[in-house]
Amino acid sequence: MNDTNILNYTGIDTRDPAEYLAALDVLRWEKLKKQIRYVWGNEDYYRPRLLEAGIRSPEDIQSLADFRRLPSFLDKARHRDSQNESLERYGHPLGLHLTTAPENAIHLAATSGTTGTPTFYVFSKKDLDITYKVLGRMFRLAGIRPGETTFHAFGLSLWLAGITYIQALEAYGARPVAVGAEGGVPKILRYIELTRPRVLFATPSMANQLIERAPNEIGKPVRALGIETLVVCGEPGGSQPAFRARIREHFGAQTFDMTGGAWHNGTITCDSKDAHGMHYMAEDYCFRYDLVDPETKTPLEIKDGAVGEAIHTGLEYEAAPAFRNATGDILRLHVGECPGCGHFGVRMEIIGRADDMLMVKGVKVYPAAIQKVVHEFLPRLSGELRIRLDAPPPRVNPPLQLAVEAGEGIAASEWPELEKALAQRIRELLALRPAVTVLPFGALPRSGAKTKLIEVIQP
Ligand SMILES: [Zn+2]
Repeated sequence: MNDTNILNYTGIDTRDPAEYLAALDVLRWEKLKKQIRYVWGNEDYYRPRLLEAGIRSPEDIQSLADFRRLPSFLDKARHRDSQNESLERYGHPLGLHLTTAPENAIHLAATSGTTGTPTFYVFSKKDLDITYKVLGRMFRLAGIRPGETTFHAFGLSLWLAGITYIQALEAYGARPVAVGAEGGVPKILRYIELTRPRVLFATPSMANQLIERAPNEIGKPVRALGIETLVVCGEPGGSQPAFRARIREHFGAQTFDMTGGAWHNGTITCDSKDAHGMHYMAEDYCFRYDLVDPETKTPLEIKDGAVGEAIHTGLEYEAAPAFRNATGDILRLHVGECPGCGHFGVRMEIIGRADDMLMVKGVKVYPAAIQKVVHEFLPRLSGELRIRLDAPPPRVNPPLQLAVEAGEGIAASEWPELEKALAQRIRELLALRPAVTVLPFGALPRSGAKTKLIEVIQP
């Protein structure tokens, strides 16, 4: 580990999971009391919703437990509606949930907008300063040093990991070369050669393109560029052992997978060779894993191994804050010592999306969790899969039908054994017994990164 001290940013001095979580609750509640009063002042959005939830004044919420019983007040769809209404009413898209004067909203980032109108993340000066601080912790954990050159090949266009990260790198002092994904692969390769960064920020698919195209574009393999650290985000892959091994092989670099920037959230993998989830780096500014049951929306006990839908609240966010924002992410928490780096704290894995949930005889299961098990069988399986349902989700008539593909060159005589082994492994890890069918390599259509894992075949 480059610098383990950075992971002790909360100052909580215990290695007992229950004590640690209790100390975090105290810290959270101290900040939340103020934040509840703050959003109560927002008469256009948050106050009416609190009133609707039966809250007559901020003092009605007397504890963290009271707070956790409140419904969610924001999600993607409500965020968009809030923007549209504020555009109509006030002539700006910052949202009715804007809790500061519009002139204090000095920075904007946005979601990609691939599934509709983009939703904006609005930052005040204070919000930006805290964002730089949280991102700075992650840069430090990834071994980035102030004074050195970093290279930015993420998309720059309003994406959080774009301009926001570049400004955070400048605040941190690690000179970003901001060519951006928009610059295109040949320019990125030439400018890396020219500026000699040790650290590269790029999505997994961009990293793969650089590997493939470097020999033709610059006449040498990417390894010759001297990149020692690759920081990825924005796509699955960064935490997958196969991807990390590929980056070690071709770049000679270690991979850090990072999420964060939105409403002071921040997580990053450690430098362990294996993936042990994402270390949570913003306990003092964020309550990102306020877990609820995805069906009943009742609060779940927060403890090691807990799985639930994450509600996100910024603890002191100033402009258009997340306040009980339903992220739709299903998280698994790990509380304790990381097997990879030894640090004690909270790690999390995103194991699915609330709207992807399947119910098989009362057992909740997420397609992404099944995919993860299938990927354990690479290269004997190709990694492609389909969950085939005879009725729309979430209820599944057991057994769950799972079609996978044999790996390239795997003889048909091995398939029955693979079917058995995969079913057995899914049973061990996910507590359900699927009916597995192995198909020939190439039998399942590929349609890019966002292939649907579920197929509904009406009888
Ligand atoms: Zn670790």
